[in-house]
Amino acid sequence: MKYHLTRFAPTPSGYLHLGNLFSFVLTAALAHKHGAEILLRIDDLDQCRGRPEYLEDIFDTLYFLGFSWQKGPKNLSEHEKNFSQVHRLPYYQESLSYLMQHNLVFACECSRKKIAQYHHNTGYPGLCTNKNLSFTKGNTALRVYTEPKTPISGITYPSSEFYERVPDDMAGFIVRKKDRMPSYQLSSMLDDTWFGVDLVVRGTDLYPSTLAQLYLSNLLPSCSSFKQTTFYHHPLLLDSDKKMAKSRGSTSIRHMRDQGMEASDIFIALGKRLGISQETSSLDNMISILARPQTFLQINQYLRSSLNRLNEE
Ligand SMILES: [Zn+2]
Repeated sequence: MKYHLTRFAPTPSGYLHLGNLFSFVLTAALAHKHGAEILLRIDDLDQCRGRPEYLEDIFDTLYFLGFSWQKGPKNLSEHEKNFSQVHRLPYYQESLSYLMQHNLVFACECSRKKIAQYHHNTGYPGLCTNKNLSFTKGNTALRVYTEPKTPISGITYPSSEFYERVPDDMAGFIVRKKDRMPSYQLSSMLDDTWFGVDLVVRGTDLYPSTLAQLYLSNLLPSCSSFKQTTFYHHPLLLDSDKKMAKSRGSTSIRHMRDQGMEASDIFIALGKRLGISQETSSLDNMISILARPQTFLQINQYLRSSLNRLNEE
């Protein structure tokens, strides 16, 4: 199987950590195996969370660990000049206009607090679905009319098709936030379409997002190519009992470097977390280990069983 383009898609909301590194290593291994180029595509629209030192950390950490990529910015100034999502705001707006013109979205004035009061802890309870609020009303988000029965199909790596529905927690997912900025679901899907990404590697925690994005791409004629994307959802690297939080200092690469660890020490630490018995002291080692179908499966099983063990404890 040949893929053309995959991507590293970090968000500058914290220092990169071992979980990000695992995702990047897998991406690089699959790119290597399938002859794909890699794009660095930074999700930087959420300006409130993004801090300049986190943006700098992305470049600094990727270079420190020896990663390379063929497309996208090579440094912070190239990012800001040519690649920031801010430059694509008119492109996102086109799709938002299309969704509004075709009545595929509705305005929602609910606060987080109000939504949390409902028992639907897992999704939007549909309070504004039939209110017909004006799209121009202030302090409103735009949500998609999600039809729970509509099938969503997609391709999962290496080549099987899956059929799903919109999960409960993605019912009425947001495409434009109250601050009028495009949501992650919209900008991420549109960016992958814009750059022609055909292989997406992301954690299983983003599986509901994949479904929402596929659903959204079905509503937008300009995004028909997104349906051809192959997705690989990898199990998450666990940090004792929780999903690795970006804010948690001890697993950030930055913190590890401050403790005097070299790139090789960091790859060895990752290898241990993955239950790999072979030598994993460099990116090249990691890539060649992960490119083998056998180890690829072993790592998946190792992470899934450690997750199960934690759930049972
Ligand atoms: Zn509402």
